[in-house]
Amino acid sequence: MDMLLEFPNMVLQNREGTRYDGYITVMNEDFRLCLEYPSDIAKATLSCDWKLKCLLDGCLDVLKQEKKLEVTKSTKSNKEPIKCGQIISEIESLGWDRLVSVDADFTLLQFLHTDHKGREHILGMKLHPQHPVEPPQCITDLPVPFDPHWTNKSTLEDLYNQFTHSVNSYQLFWDCMEDIDKNTWVLEPDNPNFSAVYRRIAISSSASVQITVDPKQPQLLPSCRFMGADHSVSQLRQNMNSNLYHWDPEGNLLENLQSLLDVTFPTPTTSKKEEFSMECGICYSYKLETELPNEVCNDSRCGQAYHHSCLYEWLRSSGCRQSFNTVFGECPYCSKPITVKMPTT
Ligand SMILES: [Zn+2]
Ligand SMILES: [Zn+2]
Repeated sequence: MDMLLEFPNMVLQNREGTRYDGYITVMNEDFRLCLEYPSDIAKATLSCDWKLKCLLDGCLDVLKQEKKLEVTKSTKSNKEPIKCGQIISEIESLGWDRLVSVDADFTLLQFLHTDHKGREHILGMKLHPQHPVEPPQCITDLPVPFDPHWTNKSTLEDLYNQFTHSVNSYQLFWDCMEDIDKNTWVLEPDNPNFSAVYRRIAISSSASVQITVDPKQPQLLPSCRFMGADHSVSQLRQNMNSNLYHWDPEGNLLENLQSLLDVTFPTPTTSKKEEFSMECGICYSYKLETELPNEVCNDSRCGQAYHHSCLYEWLRSSGCRQSFNTVFGECPYCSKPITVKMPTT
């Protein structure tokens, strides 16, 4: 390749013809580039702007690999490394503006898709060494596993289009979840991402409900699990059973839930989160690794919350009574009877 013909803005720097300095144009942008190009290609070096480096990183290595392979290729192997050039042209047809990151080997790529509600979704791809014969491995934030259709003729753009199609199909689900996140106190998960299908919503200081929503039919009745003091939970269950038939499958999820349980969820405008995220009465923390204080004293004047493991250890060390898988003892706060199930492991 004649460097000066291909890149007229590169200037030869030495007599040996191995060092060039100048500018090249990539994506309508000029980048400063310095290239050491000795006869032994394995010693080639390239220094440039970091942005260009991101775009080019790996090309040089691939170039070196291909050079080495050319020798062996003619004799036996028809296995090729991932073609950097092919990937670049696939990225180009997909749009550079959608590319968020790419690693030096051109095997890990991340693309951005902004849906029509302005939510930003990342599609991560890990290219197989036999790309495109073998499909890339995809990492997404979709609420169900992304299982794209792929043939050896498929391109990254095909994959991206299937991803945006999937993203569009979950708009209603994310609308419903966003509504809950904005208008209730979500105790779990912390900072839910787009793939999270459950929410634990605070109802009162002594009760919460964990809902698991079907992302494909988010307006249907979600599965509900209640947590808290017995008297609150049994009332909620009763309400749920008697209102079950009023659920409107076309209606708003949050409104449906409130009518179902006959409650008004406390909202960020009417309350503080601390009122519901009660700390454990034994270790005085809210989060114990992944555990929240889910055991609650059933005495309505007490209602103290405890981590399961804290309460279990406390009762065991204070000479409790044990029957089958249940431990009986006294609430460390009000001394009223309290029970806890033995840990399953
Ligand atoms: Zn605790
Ligand atoms: Zn108590």
